[in-house]
Amino acid sequence: MKNDLTKIVISGEGGQGIQTIAKVLAESFKDSGFYVSYIPQFGPEQRGAPSISFIQYSTKEIKYPRFYKADYLIVLRERAIPATTTFVNSKTKVIFDSSTIRPNVIKQSENKKEAVPATKLAFDLFGKKNLNLIISGYLTKLFSLNEKAVWKIIKNQLQKKFSEKKDLEDNARNAFIYGYEFTSEKKNFSQPTFKTNKTIIISKNREREAFISPELCKGCGICIEKCPVGALKFGDEIGVYGNPIPEIDIDKCINCGNCFRFCPDCAIKVKKKSK
Ligand code: SF4
Ligand code: SF4
Repeated sequence: MKNDLTKIVISGEGGQGIQTIAKVLAESFKDSGFYVSYIPQFGPEQRGAPSISFIQYSTKEIKYPRFYKADYLIVLRERAIPATTTFVNSKTKVIFDSSTIRPNVIKQSENKKEAVPATKLAFDLFGKKNLNLIISGYLTKLFSLNEKAVWKIIKNQLQKKFSEKKDLEDNARNAFIYGYEFTSEKKNFSQPTFKTNKTIIISKNREREAFISPELCKGCGICIEKCPVGALKFGDEIGVYGNPIPEIDIDKCINCGNCFRFCPDCAIKVKKKSK
């Protein structure tokens, strides 16, 4: 492990567990005997808003909690990249989610990319909520941390969740180990290909049809908030950019139009069926 100061930025969107990853990492460095600084930076408390954290660890006291260029950037959404660009230079190693981010959008670090298709792995193998555990496992190996010690910290942090259901813990542990043992993609990166780009019908009944365009929906959740009858919620499927997309209970829908009036991306539409 390095002896000098190491600077890390972790970024993604609300709902991905960015701050859980950061807290686990910071606590693990501290337990390994390093000085640590950790600054979380939250966007608005909603899914899809940017979430960033800044971590430094060192064998010497850390004088300034802020820094300008990172040694490592971990980025899990393409839309989080603009917020992190200023922290990246040609020396920054970028670990990115290759199932939601196109490699060519990370321009500054041409030779220092490590690709982990974490969102796709989570959806395919462990469930979407374990994305952060795959990444935590990967970072544990990357920073030569003790795998058992890091898992203990994770268990403490997620104790409440795990105490409700034992199988959640087993699944989370498997996701963590999977990330720990994962070898990053060097080329032939995974790509954001979960959903068709075409507008699709997500629900219909005898009177109404609801459509969504996965290439437009950014998973902001505004439509869900604005629905007066609770007919919308996020489903298990994800859109082109790796974000969750809404599903609709068309039988509850009263066709008020709020969802498509408020959607900032014109991604959703409900209409009466033509006779
Ligand atoms: S049209 Fe109105 S009731 Fe129907 S899903 Fe959209 S917001 Fe909800
Ligand atoms: S359909 Fe529109 S309002 Fe709803 S989550 Fe997607 S982008 Fe946001």
